[in-house]
Amino acid sequence: MTTSPIHDVAIVGGGAAGLSAAVALGRSLRSTVVVDAGAPRNAPADGAHNVLGREGISPLELYATGRVEAEGYGARFRRGRAVTARRLEDGDADGFEVELDDGAPVRARRLLLATGLVDELPEVPGVREFWGKSVLHCPYCHGWEVRGRRIAVLGTSPLSVHQALLFRRLSDDVTLLRHTMADPGEEAWEQLSALGVPVVDGVVARLHSADESLRSVVFEDGRELPVDAVTVAPRFTARGELYVQLGGTLTDHPMGTYVATGPMGRTEVHGVWAAGNVSDLAAMVATANGAGVAAAAAVNADLVAEDARAAVDARAKRRLAAPGRRTG
Ligand SMILES: Cc1cc2nc3c(=O)[nH]c(=O)nc-3n(C[C@H](O)[C@H](O)[C@H](O)COP(=O)(O)OP(=O)(O)OC[C@H]3O[C@@H](n4cnc5c(N)ncnc54)[C@H](O)[C@@H]3O)c2cc1C
Repeated sequence: MTTSPIHDVAIVGGGAAGLSAAVALGRSLRSTVVVDAGAPRNAPADGAHNVLGREGISPLELYATGRVEAEGYGARFRRGRAVTARRLEDGDADGFEVELDDGAPVRARRLLLATGLVDELPEVPGVREFWGKSVLHCPYCHGWEVRGRRIAVLGTSPLSVHQALLFRRLSDDVTLLRHTMADPGEEAWEQLSALGVPVVDGVVARLHSADESLRSVVFEDGRELPVDAVTVAPRFTARGELYVQLGGTLTDHPMGTYVATGPMGRTEVHGVWAAGNVSDLAAMVATANGAGVAAAAAVNADLVAEDARAAVDARAKRRLAAPGRRTG
């Protein structure tokens, strides 16, 4: 039988959402443990953008600072991957037990999943190598850095047209590569044409680089298109394994899967909250921060309500045991 202490809250994932939640819970004097595997999604990028007050900061520096801030409010950190989660059975304390990959257990009354998502990239040689550097997906995250440059959009879905239109705002030299994209329809073709976005047929075989820089896109038939950046539309798969183990179901989305929540992060699994990319595929750093704080507030309120009910029950029991005495 495990003897690990039971925390108020276990947060799985110490990225933008999990760290923000840890700060907010610490500031509510909640005993909080953060289990983190240390691989935040934007780690490949040089800078995190649209981060008010720390614009362009290195993602790893941002999270290291966040961790120090959370520790300043008493949050504990466990480095490792949570591999299983289970609800504590009758006879145990009320709550959850999460097991790490080193076999160590973490127990808590409430569980907040802030595990992020996996970007499933198109299987084109060179894409993974330049991911987050010259292979991009988000105009808000790194579009400004490639403004005015030669940008090719790797067509894989109708969303690729949307991506081409978004990046067209940032450069006059945007080309849509048909690659594996289905016909997006007449309206899309007209918009691309009117905005001066050429469309190139043919399947892309690989990205060509020299001196560690992206140089061109090479098609299966040998044609080559010089580029400075390539945009892709990954499939976004929520890291929801623990949620499924606890009886939750992942929700399908045209761009991937996610954990459905209410506005404050409460999931359909009693006692489990989720925040950040695991429950919002479009969340950026700032919105993941906000979701983490909102979920922390909701978890704290839930525990406050439970503790208040327990206090009333305990007082009633004392009164029954000693009728006539006021026990407060
Ligand atoms: C290349 C790139 C660049 C980006 N640039 C920007 C940008 O400039 N500005 C911006 O606003 N957004 C940017 N984003 C988006 C940003 O990365 C996300 O919004 C943000 O990371 C979401 O935070 P999160 O806490 O939900 O997930 P993450 O930051 O990914 O954190 C999840 C954490 O959980 C850990 N984890 C996962 N599973 C487990 C487990 N089972 N056990 C323990 N730990 C686990 C992971 O290791 C990770 O540390 C970028 C994304 C990419 C891919």
